[in-house]
Amino acid sequence: MTAKLIKGKEIREEILAEIKAEVDRIKEKHGIVPGLVTILVGEDPASVSYVTGKIKTAISLGFKEVQENRPESITEEELLSLVDKYNNDGTIHGILVQLPLPKHIDEKRVINAIDPDKDVDGFHPVNVGRLVIGGSEVKFPPCTPAGIQEMILRAGVKIEGAEVVVVGRSNIVGKPIAIMLFQKAAGANATVTVVHTRTRDLAFHCRRADILIVAAGVPGLVKPEWIKPGACVIDVGVNRVGWKTSEQTGKRVAILKGDVDFEAAKEIAGWITPVPGGVGPMTITMLMRNTLNSLKYKLGIG
Ligand code: NAP
Repeated sequence: MTAKLIKGKEIREEILAEIKAEVDRIKEKHGIVPGLVTILVGEDPASVSYVTGKIKTAISLGFKEVQENRPESITEEELLSLVDKYNNDGTIHGILVQLPLPKHIDEKRVINAIDPDKDVDGFHPVNVGRLVIGGSEVKFPPCTPAGIQEMILRAGVKIEGAEVVVVGRSNIVGKPIAIMLFQKAAGANATVTVVHTRTRDLAFHCRRADILIVAAGVPGLVKPEWIKPGACVIDVGVNRVGWKTSEQTGKRVAILKGDVDFEAAKEIAGWITPVPGGVGPMTITMLMRNTLNSLKYKLGIG
């Protein structure tokens, strides 16, 4: 293997320790801790697992954590009034509504009802606008792209001036990471190309990338010959390709694969993220950082 492995799990531990130290300092000086409410509707196993990870992490950092679990039958109006309750709660600095919501609820309406200054997921149109403007306007960068940028920087890869190619243009990954990396700002200033299903020659663009970020949701989409030797490859894709029995727990677990042919790509790339254990662990970490920052903005120290 020639590529250096960028391990999300290790970077996560580093950042969580920094957050914890800051939470302790703020608590001592200002007598307040970050407050996060997690709102979960229904019992979808993937959503339950994501929310559980968020709750555990928040508690481990000494946050105030409020869990609001509601049945699938909740009405849109009831959910909106729950969001409103926490918009008006001074001890809560972050409101997390786990997506997707049941079909009878208008997801956009719920996201738009969250106070933009508590929207720690960064999905509210006000925060998307702030992200596009850039600089000190940015309050809550969306968590997965923020994690990607942080990983690249902590791995010591230079973003400034780099040719970045982003595969995928979703609102939660592709679009925001492209915007974040081309901003006139420290840790950015890249030249960014975004490719998608209507791009004429995907391989051509990928081959030009000093930093290749792949968020397509197609297992093994990026072939090793599409990778520039020495490039930094960030594989965001998480694709379930089968099932196996865990040797440790004896339980049936999903076999996960990324969007990049990892085994071959690691012989060509300079840096690469594994799946699982790469970008995945960063998302919750950035949610915690956004929640801490929300409190800091409120205290005027952010
Ligand atoms: P998405 O909303 O389905 O968007 C996929 C994007 O990839 C679209 O823009 C699509 O193009 C493009 N695409 C799909 N197939 C392609 C192909 N063959 N060639 C070129 N472009 C292609 O997905 P997403 O929410 O961004 O998620 C992408 C992947 O990242 C998924 O595997 C997801 O599970 C994973 N993910 C991981 C994390 C994490 O680790 N924390 C967080 C979020 C997502 P069009 O726009 O033209 O359709």
